[in-house]
Parts: sequence; structure tokens; C-alpha cells
Amino acid sequence: MNSERLLEMVQKYGAPLYVYDANKIKSQYDKMIKAFSSVKRLKLNYACKANTNLTILKYFKSMNSGLDTVSIQEAELGLLAGFKPKDIIYTPNGVSYSEIKKAVELGLRINIDNLSILEAFGQDFPNYPVCIRMNPHIMAGGNANISVGHIDSKFGISIHQLPHIQRVVENTGLHVDGVHMHTGSDILDIDVFLQGAEILFEVASHFDRLSYIDFGSGFKVPYHPGANETDLDYLGERLSARFNAFEKNYGKPLTLMFEPGKYMVSEAGFFLASVNLIKQTTSTVFAGIDTGFNHLIRPMFYNAHHEIENISNLAGRSRYYTVVGYICETDTFGANRKINEITEGDILCFHNAGAYCFSMASNYNSRLKPAEVLWIDDKDYLIRRRETVEDMLATTVMDVKF
Ligand SMILES: *Cc1c(COP(=O)(O)O)cnc(C)c1O
Repeated sequence: MNSERLLEMVQKYGAPLYVYDANKIKSQYDKMIKAFSSVKRLKLNYACKANTNLTILKYFKSMNSGLDTVSIQEAELGLLAGFKPKDIIYTPNGVSYSEIKKAVELGLRINIDNLSILEAFGQDFPNYPVCIRMNPHIMAGGNANISVGHIDSKFGISIHQLPHIQRVVENTGLHVDGVHMHTGSDILDIDVFLQGAEILFEVASHFDRLSYIDFGSGFKVPYHPGANETDLDYLGERLSARFNAFEKNYGKPLTLMFEPGKYMVSEAGFFLASVNLIKQTTSTVFAGIDTGFNHLIRPMFYNAHHEIENISNLAGRSRYYTVVGYICETDTFGANRKINEITEGDILCFHNAGAYCFSMASNYNSRLKPAEVLWIDDKDYLIRRRETVEDMLATTVMDVKF
């Protein structure tokens, strides 16, 4: 991270501001490609709900990435960014059947995670290749419950319903060309992930027209200093060997797919906010910043940790602060944080702000959304201008007579 450069961005574009470093995105992408380099056909599909800025999507396209989308609107953004329909995976959950028909019209790769939809789809589009999203909820021995896509999860079709899936495929002649799992959890225990993968291989062996197996995501990145990230080299070594052996046995070329979101963009992002006030109370010192959960909700929504740094006072002594926003609700970004001494007007930098930050922003309290900047090599590009009141009012009907 280059603090001077970040401060320069605030001078140029104002605060609050999101800044993303494309070089970091590229190095994460390359790390993953490298970890699976012994697999002949590998495709990474960036899960764009993490950050849907159009220029970010185009950047992924320039690296040869595909796209993983969870709504028809995300898929439309992907098409707008120049992705071919077949390079867009559509993996919704709980959407209407009419939206799935729209995905057929657009020619997307479709992932189905519900038996009744699968049955309807098989009758309406038996020749349209589809992927089936499985929930592998594995139980490893006795009462030890190692949960990969836990049993109560709303996602995927239960592994126990495989016979019913096979019956639907037989009855309708459905063309199943992929199987999929996405556990959603932060993968630290590679062995548990590999157990889930074994279940997916077992499912795959029941379909003879597959062209890919999609292992989803859940790759962990460090949010705390010194925290671990998923050991991709180890996972790559183990899973690649297993995949190559499976493919050989299967007898047809298969593509290995992943759909990482957080791993690709989290660490590339910085959120910059200015300090409005310092407030001493009897128990703490509050630093009140010129933003709130309307711009970055993860700390309040998931209790997520984001490192906070005072980039206006890098050499100062540290003190303990509770960093709060300006929303008229409790919106604590971090309690009892050790931060270099803060003066009103300083710029605080939030780390890991590339994934699920801007994409979850709202207009709550009628606040405007911040601007976004992308660094590519040494240049900064404004990739979203700051919102205006006119933007916010664009959908409001102004002249209702009553
Ligand atoms: C959200 C999502 C991902 C990305 O998850 P990360 O933890 O951000 O990598 C991948 N696949 C599907 C189906 C998702 O819904």
C-alpha cells in the first residue's frame, strides 16, 4: 500500500472514496492460475457480486477470466463488459423460473440448485446444457459433523437427492454438462474441502455428458494482520492430482472451474474516509468519520474486521479509538482499535475494501454513494463518479398529484 498515493487520491477525487489496485487483482488471479497449472483445462470465473464495477469486470475479461453471476442483472453487466454468454455462469438461488428462462434467451451457462426447477427446465429445454449445484453436506464419522455446505443451507440440491436428479435426467433427457458446489465458508481446512470435492467427483461419475466440474469458492484472505489465507499451493497440488486422475478415468476432456470473489478483489481495495470529529466520553475516545454503514456495512452486518489506519499520521504515537460513522443508528466500524493519533480532518484508510463493500452500499439516510478509482500500474482512473442528488432522485416520481 502506498499511503502518499492514497492521500493524493483524496485530494484529487474527494472523500469518502474507494480505491482499487489492479496489480493486486492480477497477482491474486495469477497465483490461482499457477496453483492449478498442472490441470490442462482451468477456468476461473470471477464472482462479480463482490465488486460489480464495469471497469473491474472489463479488467477480469482482459485477464481471460469468466464471470460468475447470481442475478440476471449481473449477467447483463457482464455482457455489457464484453463477456460472451458462454463465459458467464448464472448461479442464482431462489429466483423465479421466468428469470431462468431469460438466462436461456441470453445463452448463459446455467446452474440449477432446485429439483422442481430442474424438472421444469428438463421438460422445456432438454437440449440446453445445464450445471447442477449440489450441496455435499458431508458427515465425517461418528458424531463429528464436518459441514461443507451445511445440512440446513438453502443452497444446492442435497447429495441425498441424487437418485431423484438422475430420474429427472432420465425422464426429460436433460443435458447435464456440469456439476457444481460452493460451500460459502472460509476454507482453512483443505482436507475438509477435499472431502467435499470427493463427493462432487462421485456425483460427476453418474453423468456421462459433462464438460466441466465447478468447485465454487470460499477462498480465505487475511483480514487481520498476520492471519492466514487459504493455502492455494497445497490445495492446487492435491486437487489437481485428483482431478487429473478423475478426468483420465472419465475418458472425456473436463474443465476445472472455480468462482472466486473475495480472493480476487478483497485486498486490492482501500476505503478512505475523513474524520469529522473526536469525541471523548467517560469510557472511550470516538473518532467520528464522514461515512457510515451506507458505504461499508460489513463490520455492522457480519461483525467483519477491517484494519483501520490513520494515513495522515503515519509516524505518530498510537492511541485507542472507537471508530464510528455518521448514520443515525449505532454504526461502529471498529471498537477499541489501536490507531495512530487522530486529529479532526485526518484520513482513515480501511483495508480489504475491494470485496462486498461498494457492492453492498446504499442510500440510507439519503446519503450519496462514494466515487471509485482504479489504479492500473501507475495511473489512476475514475471508474465511478460520486453520486449526486439528481442520481438519487432519478427513479422518484416528482409530481404526484393527490
Ligand atoms: C458469492 C459466491 C461466490 C464467491 O464467494 P467468495 O467467498 O467471495 O469467493 C462464488 N460462487 C457463488 C455461487 C457465490 O454465490
